[in-house]
Amino acid sequence: MADYTFTTITGQVVFDYGRCRQCREKPCVASCTAGILKLEGDGPVLAMDAAQVKKGKCTECLACELECHFRGAGGLHIELPIPGLDAITGVKRDVHFN
Ligand code: SF4
Ligand code: SF4
Repeated sequence: MADYTFTTITGQVVFDYGRCRQCREKPCVASCTAGILKLEGDGPVLAMDAAQVKKGKCTECLACELECHFRGAGGLHIELPIPGLDAITGVKRDVHFN
């Protein structure tokens, strides 16, 4: 379930706060060297203007998703659709570790 999302250059970052509430260390925030994430209560949110993030402040590096997967509670995934891929493979695919 998506409780919070923000848009990147080519996709979006999606949070499930039900899982974030069970996450003790919230490692996604520190993993973002671009500094675009901060905590608001138990949930990560943008620490800067969403328009700037969409223009490229989020580099789509996937660090937050990897940290979430290995050290967090699986409350984050990044969707980066690849144009034309569905037509080639016949299936819908996203970059998705959780
Ligand atoms: S690491 Fe994952 S589960 Fe933990 S706060 Fe961040 S997004 Fe939520
Ligand atoms: S993908 Fe990279 S730049 Fe974007 S929020 Fe996650 S860690 Fe930060």
